[in-house]
Amino acid sequence: MSILVLGSGQLARMMALAGHPLGLHVQAVDVADNKIVDPISKDVINCTLDTAINEANVVTVEFEHIPEALLETVHASGKLKPNVESILTGADRVREKTLLEKLNIANCPFSIVTDVEQLDAAMEKLGEKLIIKASRDGYDGYGQWRLQDKSQLPKLKEALSKLDLQKVPLIVEKMLSFEREVSLVAVRNVEGEFAFYPLAENLHYEGQLHVSIAPATEVDEALNQQAQDIFTKLAESLDYVGVLAVEFFQIGQQLLVNEIAPRVHNSGHWTMQGAETCQFENHLRAVRGLPLGSTKVKSPTAMINIIGCKDFDRDMLSIPGCHLHWYGKTARAKRKMGHFNLCADNYKELAKVIGALSEYLPAEYFPMLKDEAIRLA
Ligand code: ATP
Ligand code: MG
Ligand code: MG
Repeated sequence: MSILVLGSGQLARMMALAGHPLGLHVQAVDVADNKIVDPISKDVINCTLDTAINEANVVTVEFEHIPEALLETVHASGKLKPNVESILTGADRVREKTLLEKLNIANCPFSIVTDVEQLDAAMEKLGEKLIIKASRDGYDGYGQWRLQDKSQLPKLKEALSKLDLQKVPLIVEKMLSFEREVSLVAVRNVEGEFAFYPLAENLHYEGQLHVSIAPATEVDEALNQQAQDIFTKLAESLDYVGVLAVEFFQIGQQLLVNEIAPRVHNSGHWTMQGAETCQFENHLRAVRGLPLGSTKVKSPTAMINIIGCKDFDRDMLSIPGCHLHWYGKTARAKRKMGHFNLCADNYKELAKVIGALSEYLPAEYFPMLKDEAIRLA
């Protein structure tokens, strides 16, 4: 059985690793040049795109920003899962917001801007503290601008006037102050059955995910249900198949959707050690029409991204419950190079392990990890 993944980064790699024991052979498409590659070794496979699509049982994606022509070709093959509408919705914030509004799902107040001169009206409506997002191609906080007050508006207008906003509009959002960020990663199969992982709590630094703690603490039944209801509504309306992630801002006991990701997700990496079946295996099972695996939690887990560094101190592996996933990529600032999953029997023990790991990590992790360790202890 073979599965073709559009995109050849770490998510395709982790799908390939998870598929191997099940006898699922995963190949990837480098979307920059449509070459077929082995997602683990990155070796180019001598095979055309058309042949790879013909030979695959199913085609899926590891990220949503797929070039239009490639997405169209794969959609036409009838093998794409999740479907093209789901991928386009995750890739375009205007479509995403339109769907959330249509389904009456609470989300961050926003305006759609197709001309810089509309920014004044957006500020009138939403307040002076804004976060402005390109509606396409953004991730890890790229393609975003933050505005603290009105005085910064002229300079921002000048910068944004270089963009073609008719073609790629901006989503202007109110800068919310929320208690925390959580996400729900879950999977839906072709028969419409769901398997939910518990909510994860996500800690960001400069718009990029650094740490996830799962299961999130202080989640009562009502909050969990609220997240699952929103997830179900979205997945059913898209007739979604595979793993989907929904990012939320929590304000009091209310969840507002930030965005959705039609794929396996960084905030689900903890499942590789922390859950009975990891998100990558469950995604493959769903798209391949196999029974879904249990999402039962094995142990509370902290997932810590390794960002930007060439290498790290391997002594970290002496920390009990510390598991490393290294992606083998060339280092670049802000690039996700790998992650640790830290597992423990309970949150108190997890706090200790986080404390031990934080001794080794770069400065920007310290406040975040220290605070988290204190909170969990
Ligand atoms: P991802 O890598 O998750 O796809 P992205 O580039 O698509 O990221 P968002 O998830 O929209 O960007 O935003 C990144 C982070 O910026 C959020 O997780 C949150 O911490 C912060 N953020 C985004 N929108 C808002 C908002 N309206 N108010 C306050 N903070 C926000
Ligand atoms: Mg995003
Ligand atoms: Mg996000």
